[in-house]
Amino acid sequence: MTTITAPTFPRLFAGIDVGPSYRAHLNRFGDRPTFNDRKAEGLRTLHQLLDDAPLIGRGGGGIAASLKLAFLSTSTKPVIVVNAMEGEPASSKGVALAMVAPHLVLDGALMLAEALKSSQIIIAIADDDTRTTQGFQRAIGERRESISMEISHPPAHYVTGEESALVHWLDEGSALPTFRPIKPSFVKIGRRAALVHNLETLAHLALLARFGAGWYRSRGTSSSPGTTLITVSGAVQSPSTYEWTFGRTLGELIEQAGGLVEGFGGALIGGYGGTWVGGNALSLPIDHASLRSAGATLGPGIVVVLPKASCPVAEVTRVVEWMANESVGQCGPCVYGLPALAKDLRTLGWSRSTRNQFDRLLHHLTEVDGRGACRHPDGVVRLIRSCLSVFSAHFDEHLRSGPCAAVNAPTVMVLPKNRRR
Ligand code: SF4
Repeated sequence: MTTITAPTFPRLFAGIDVGPSYRAHLNRFGDRPTFNDRKAEGLRTLHQLLDDAPLIGRGGGGIAASLKLAFLSTSTKPVIVVNAMEGEPASSKGVALAMVAPHLVLDGALMLAEALKSSQIIIAIADDDTRTTQGFQRAIGERRESISMEISHPPAHYVTGEESALVHWLDEGSALPTFRPIKPSFVKIGRRAALVHNLETLAHLALLARFGAGWYRSRGTSSSPGTTLITVSGAVQSPSTYEWTFGRTLGELIEQAGGLVEGFGGALIGGYGGTWVGGNALSLPIDHASLRSAGATLGPGIVVVLPKASCPVAEVTRVVEWMANESVGQCGPCVYGLPALAKDLRTLGWSRSTRNQFDRLLHHLTEVDGRGACRHPDGVVRLIRSCLSVFSAHFDEHLRSGPCAAVNAPTVMVLPKNRRR
């Protein structure tokens, strides 16, 4: 019998040397435990395990996996949805997991399905994401499972990865968000409840179930145990997705990504609805509590590093223009508010503007904040407000002297083409 040792570090990427095949996966991690006994004892054990870790969802909402499970455990045979949508342009963790550890993701989904007596798993991958699709197609094809695993292709838009929009698309073919997710919410596909998890959460679950809560907590901090995937881009030598231990600093993360290309000007943390931190943030620990005290969250695991010589006004303007075009156009804050914010910023960035124009931007931020059906516009407001706060001197310079020398420099932000709806 092969003895399987728990990986120390990395964890999710522990099989990287042996490859992503099912055989290599079994050799590296062993068979998945099952939680499918008749009397729901397995379900209780799984719930306890998630609670003891605790495993916090890696999709950006920061919801504990045990809470989601408790919310659904009385539903009959829910559909398990693996959210691999990767709507954030600066994230590549979906591709990374599909290439390196797709079987951990499938194991996590299968364990949940077995514990909940579910017969269907849907893996949602954006319709333009061929690499993630190929990785999961290959992995599904290697396995013989009694539970159905199918890949679905919602349209590649920023908002489609949001849980209620995704389920709405799977249910009715329309990717409109239907609520503002701040806690577990009841979502349905047809007549059946749906349990949606980010693919990284499921990969962690697959290891947690094998090696236990003590092992899970043996890395990270007491309030942010474990490791997490972070995609680092911008002004670093080796942009990529890294497995990261909670509690180590932003400066160490940049070192891991090969170091700075040029001086550190600040960073965007949490994605395009995230929060900017300034030039003094290199000692900031990357864990939930430390980020919260800096007014930030890790979101789905994204850090974009800004070079010192760049223009933050220009960078944030281009992101807001992109985000304005990603809304689904069903609420006023998105239809009118986001384009107005983008226009205000462009005026501030590219012309000699007045204090009145700056005040108009502040007014529009208040108008938009908290008014959308989903949190898409709130994310844009957070992005702009944190930029105004962290880079206030740069905004002042624009107000005093007009556009800076870097305003037309190539952007460091990843900005794919907006797709027509
Ligand atoms: S707030 Fe924007 S993205 Fe959210 S549902 Fe309304 S229009 Fe759509």
